[in-house]
Amino acid sequence: MLIKKINELREYIRPYKANNETLGLVPTMGALHNGHLSLIKAAKEKCDRVVVSVFVNPIQFGPNEDYNKYPRTLKADYELCMKNGVDAVFSPSPEEMYGAGFILSNDNLTYVCPPYNFTDKLCGKSRVGHFDGVCTVVNKLFNIVQPDFAFFGEKDAQQLIIIKKMVKDLNIPIEIIGCPIVRETGGLALSSRNKYLSENGKKEALLLSKILQNIKKCYKQGIINVDLLKETAFSFLNNNVELEYLEIYDSDTLEEKQEADDNSRAFIACRVEGVRLIDNIKLGE
Ligand code: AMP
Repeated sequence: MLIKKINELREYIRPYKANNETLGLVPTMGALHNGHLSLIKAAKEKCDRVVVSVFVNPIQFGPNEDYNKYPRTLKADYELCMKNGVDAVFSPSPEEMYGAGFILSNDNLTYVCPPYNFTDKLCGKSRVGHFDGVCTVVNKLFNIVQPDFAFFGEKDAQQLIIIKKMVKDLNIPIEIIGCPIVRETGGLALSSRNKYLSENGKKEALLLSKILQNIKKCYKQGIINVDLLKETAFSFLNNNVELEYLEIYDSDTLEEKQEADDNSRAFIACRVEGVRLIDNIKLGE
């Protein structure tokens, strides 16, 4: 079932709620791939009913980002969801979510803003306001769908950490389930933005996971000094890959430490052919 209106979604969930059936939400921006499908599968296993939201959220994109050109493939996404046992796809328009005219003026919206310590680094540093937009839309989706469980990928690890923090700080009665990163055979993390890459670009993009794997290997061999671990990346870099950040932080708090431990996570962001790609790996697993 495809639902575009908030009221219709509320009507749709009412009988399930009344019946005490558990409801899982998988929030996405569409252009679904096997990474998204792994979240859907986890939701199907845990919940009686599964709702997938498909919404390219304008308020989490910066003015120079790819909001307009972000891939929109609702028909294919819907068919994929139905094939995979999803109960409902919720795909509202921006006007339905934010009201008519929001594009001209989005400064009269109540935002949910995560703490600075979690957003002043990694993706939050270059994408100022991004996580305010993410937390705001996720909160709205939580209030509309009222799921018992919501599923997010570790691919966007900073996002997952921030959403867990939001749920804890705001006492939101929803359990957040993190799901492992799904990769192509060569190691490239699946992403809707991989569609922008040429075949050659895809080969260059393998560098991200190679750098992360190597850091993990060095950690397992006994190197724990964070600066030394980060330096191991230099030999991999070339002119086709523009490094935005490479950091090692605590997996739960994003705190910076001098020495890595099993709960540390290496985070990387690069541009390949102008496409911004991110990846991460937990060192202790
Ligand atoms: P997006 O549509 O990019 O906003 O992603 C929707 C959800 O799918 C987010 O929770 C992502 O972390 C998750 N996701 C995206 N790519 C992957 C992947 N390769 N493996 C696991 N989860 C992913």
